[in-house]
Amino acid sequence: MKDLKHLYYFENLLTEANNELVRQAKAEGGIAVGYTCFHMPEVLLNLDRCFSVRLRAPRTGSMEMATYYMSNSTCEYARALLERGLEGGYRFLDAMAGVDVCECMNRSMENMELLDVADPDKKGFFWCNLDSPCHDNEDAVAHVVEQVTRKVLKPLHENYGVDISDAAIRKAVDEHNEICRLITQIGEYRKLDNPTITGYEFHILTLATYVCPKYLIVDKLRQTLEELKTREPDSKKRFRAKVVLVGSEIDDPELISLIEDSGALVVADRFCYGSIPGRQEIRLTDGEDALTQVVRDYLHATLCVRHVEPHKIQKRLDTAAQLCQDFHADGIIYEQIKFCTYWSYERALASHIMADEYHIPTLSIDRPYMSRTSGQLRTRVQAFVESLEIKKIRAAKAQKEEASHGV
Ligand code: SF4
Ligand code: SF4
Repeated sequence: MKDLKHLYYFENLLTEANNELVRQAKAEGGIAVGYTCFHMPEVLLNLDRCFSVRLRAPRTGSMEMATYYMSNSTCEYARALLERGLEGGYRFLDAMAGVDVCECMNRSMENMELLDVADPDKKGFFWCNLDSPCHDNEDAVAHVVEQVTRKVLKPLHENYGVDISDAAIRKAVDEHNEICRLITQIGEYRKLDNPTITGYEFHILTLATYVCPKYLIVDKLRQTLEELKTREPDSKKRFRAKVVLVGSEIDDPELISLIEDSGALVVADRFCYGSIPGRQEIRLTDGEDALTQVVRDYLHATLCVRHVEPHKIQKRLDTAAQLCQDFHADGIIYEQIKFCTYWSYERALASHIMADEYHIPTLSIDRPYMSRTSGQLRTRVQAFVESLEIKKIRAAKAQKEEASHGV
C-alpha cells in the first residue's frame, strides 16, 4: 500500500514524551497533566487549558536505576516510567494524575515523588494518587467523583486557575468525542477482507491521540480518514491470518510490527493504550451533572482486569469473542507484560476459556516492555499463524467433502 501521508509525522511524535506538539501546547500556555491508566478519566485532564499526556518511556534500554528502587520482579512498564522520570524525561509535566491500581504502579509513583522527578521550579505542580474502586455500581461512581474532585479538579483550579465548571467538562467531552469518532471510523477499515490500514499504522494513530494535545493533531487525523476512503489495498494480501490482540498495556508499536511481520495482521486492539475501550464516544444528557456522567461512563466502559465481578469477567470474554467476529479474525493473541499480576491470571484463564468454550484459536504470551528484539516471541507467533492456516485448510477440505457427499 502507498504510505499514509502523515504516518512518519505521527511516528516521530512517539519517539519522546515531551514531543514537539507537547512543547508547542506548553508554549501556548497549556498545562500538561501526566497519567498512566484508564481509571483516570482522560477527558477530565483536558479541561480548559489542560491537556493530558499518557506516559510512556519510548526507546527504553537499561532500567538499572528503577530496578534498584523497585526490584526486578515488578512490571517493566512501571519500572520504565520510573527510569525515564529519574532521567528527567517528565520534568515538562505540570501535574501528575496517578491512580492506585496496582502495587507496581504505586511503587513507581511513590518513588517518582520521593526522588523529585518533577521540576522543582513548577510551584503549582501536584501529585495525586486516585483511589479507584474495583466495582462499577453507583457507590463506586460517587466515590470516584469525590476523589477526582478533591485530588485533581480542585488542585487544577487552585494552582492553575483552570475552569472546572460543568460547561468546561461538556466542552472537553465534545472535543474528546471528535477524536473518538475519527479513530473509530479509521479503525473500521480493519474490517475489510483485505484491510486498507495495518494494525501497526492504526496503533501509531491511536497512540498519538493519547500522548499529544488533541487540538494539534485533529486536522491530520481528519486528513488521514479522508485518505483512507480511497486508499488501495495491496494487490496480494501480505498477511496469512488476522488476529485480535488482547491484554495489558501496549505503548510500543514495535510489538504490533513484530506480530504483523510474523504473518498475523492485528485487526482489533483490546488492550490498554488501544482504542477498545478508550476511543468510544461519551454520551452526556442534560439531566445530570457532566462529572458524574463522565465517571460513570469510564467505570462502565472499563475492561480492566482489576474488575473481577462476574458480570465484568463475562463482559471481557464476550467482548474478545465479539471482536473476533466483527473484525473477521482467525484467532486471538492474549498478551501480558511480564510481572503484571492481574493480567497473568486473566491471560491464563481466558486463553483456555476462549479455546475450549468459545472455540476460538488462542495464543497466550508474556512479553517484556520493549519487545522488538524478541526472537522467541516471533517464533511463537509464526507457529500460531501456521496452526491457523492448517485449521483453515482442514475446514475447507471438510466442507468440500461434505458438499461432494451431498450433505
Ligand atoms: S490493566 Fe487496568 S489497572 Fe492496568 S493500566 Fe490497564 S486499566 Fe489501568
Ligand atoms: S501492566 Fe499490570 S502491573 Fe503494570 S502498571 Fe498496568 S496493571 Fe500494573
